[in-house]
Amino acid sequence: MEHLVNSEVKQIQISGIRKMSNLVATYPDALTLTIGQPDFPTPAHIVEAGKRALDENRTLYTANAGLPQLRKAAADFVSGKYGLSYDPEQEVIVTAGASQALDITLRTIIGPGCEVLIPGPIYPGYEPIIRMCGGTSVYVDTRQSGFQMTAELIAAKLTERTRAIILCYPSNPTGRVMSENQLTQVAELLRGKPVFIISDEIYSELVYDQPHRSIAALPGMKEQTIVINGLSKSHSMTGWRIGFTFAPASISKHMLKVHQYNVTCASSISQYAAIEALTAGRDDAEPMKREYKARRDFVYDRLMRIGLKAEKPEKPEGAFYLFPSIGQFGLSSQQFAMKLLDEERVAVVPGDAFSEYGEGYVRISYAYSMDVLKKAMDRLEKFVSRLGS
Ligand code: PMP
Repeated sequence: MEHLVNSEVKQIQISGIRKMSNLVATYPDALTLTIGQPDFPTPAHIVEAGKRALDENRTLYTANAGLPQLRKAAADFVSGKYGLSYDPEQEVIVTAGASQALDITLRTIIGPGCEVLIPGPIYPGYEPIIRMCGGTSVYVDTRQSGFQMTAELIAAKLTERTRAIILCYPSNPTGRVMSENQLTQVAELLRGKPVFIISDEIYSELVYDQPHRSIAALPGMKEQTIVINGLSKSHSMTGWRIGFTFAPASISKHMLKVHQYNVTCASSISQYAAIEALTAGRDDAEPMKREYKARRDFVYDRLMRIGLKAEKPEKPEGAFYLFPSIGQFGLSSQQFAMKLLDEERVAVVPGDAFSEYGEGYVRISYAYSMDVLKKAMDRLEKFVSRLGS
């Protein structure tokens, strides 16, 4: 019966990140730097709120868009932190993680024939959804621009079929953050054009050296922007599956239909925990951010000394990834990653998992303890010195 499976779905490949994680499981002594999730537990006060929700039998469906208190808390959060202004009643939807937020966003606006501009290299979660909508992903090669989606690069790829452009900052896999100047130029290019901006800001709380800025906060941009965010990274809550969409009411009302027929609502228990996360008056991301920043500095310095150069001389500004070039060794990113795993038992993700534009790089996640990172860097150093540069 397999030949009857939807042909678009048949063409979708398992994510290269997942493939690597599966492979690593067969090397029990390997140090893994492959996973894109925080290594901190969910803060205890949030876990307690989840337990309370269970004890109080808050285990039934909620409103499709999510609990009103949570929508308000999310709107207040992005207003206080990033100067965004959304009506919790009509412009916020609580989703099952940022992944489902992306799914309902793309399925609401993308149809057959639509093109979506995506930076490359990039998180592999967008392209399969676009494909299932009958749309086409058009990659913007950001390797020559320090992995930045500049207005110039976008302008060169815009056609009358371009329905949306995806921005992801801080970026998975590069850790790059768009500067205010770059966001302003992109806004100037797209303002008033019939093109949506899907702004994936799931790492917004993990920007190390400057405040996070959202393109939706720039004059006139709210109308054509859908902001994706969530608690997976900021509050170490990947398994709770809580994300958000922030979009103008006229778009949100259509997204809500897709959401309703997709999952009805996000988990009620997780929603109660999320209310606690956003209203307890604690900045849970702050201590984690401090630790990530120290790890970033450590791994970045080691990589520089080992001779694995990042594309730009400066450190990546956010998320918990480094994306060094391995081009100088004459190996593909797959070969490099496999050899490193085989010989030194260190797992990194080959850059080609992030589109063809990631070839020649590897992704190193530093969402691991300093102890693991130190050992992994020692092993990497041995490996690279054997390879010679
Ligand atoms: N967007 C990006 C850029 C991501 O890296 C991830 C998770 N790795 C997601 C979205 C999905 O996040 P969630 O776990 O909240 O679904």
